[in-house]
Amino acid sequence: MRRENAGLRSERMTTIRTTCNRCGDVELTTEDVGLELTAEGGTGRYRFTCPFCSSVQRRPANTRVVSILLATGVEYEIVPTAGAITENEIRDFASALGSDDWFTELVASES
Ligand SMILES: [Zn+2]
Repeated sequence: MRRENAGLRSERMTTIRTTCNRCGDVELTTEDVGLELTAEGGTGRYRFTCPFCSSVQRRPANTRVVSILLATGVEYEIVPTAGAITENEIRDFASALGSDDWFTELVASES
């Protein structure tokens, strides 16, 4: 039997699951997510617009998250590090890294 949809492979939808501060678990497409990489490379932040409450949120992204997001094809930009990261963000980043399950908040899957 012919697989008529074989040609759609490159257009497959990638769903990125993360957590909105207000709404809980949300599912995003790659278009909803942007990656902000630091000049040193490897780490940075990702931002997303919640599809429910439309708030823009930013989360720290370590090398694992960065590689997941890049693999899904999200757009990224290199941001200057000097003065770009506040003490609050460093604190958030540190506490996120200290949590065992922080990375489960971000799960990319293809459907
Ligand atoms: Zn929300």
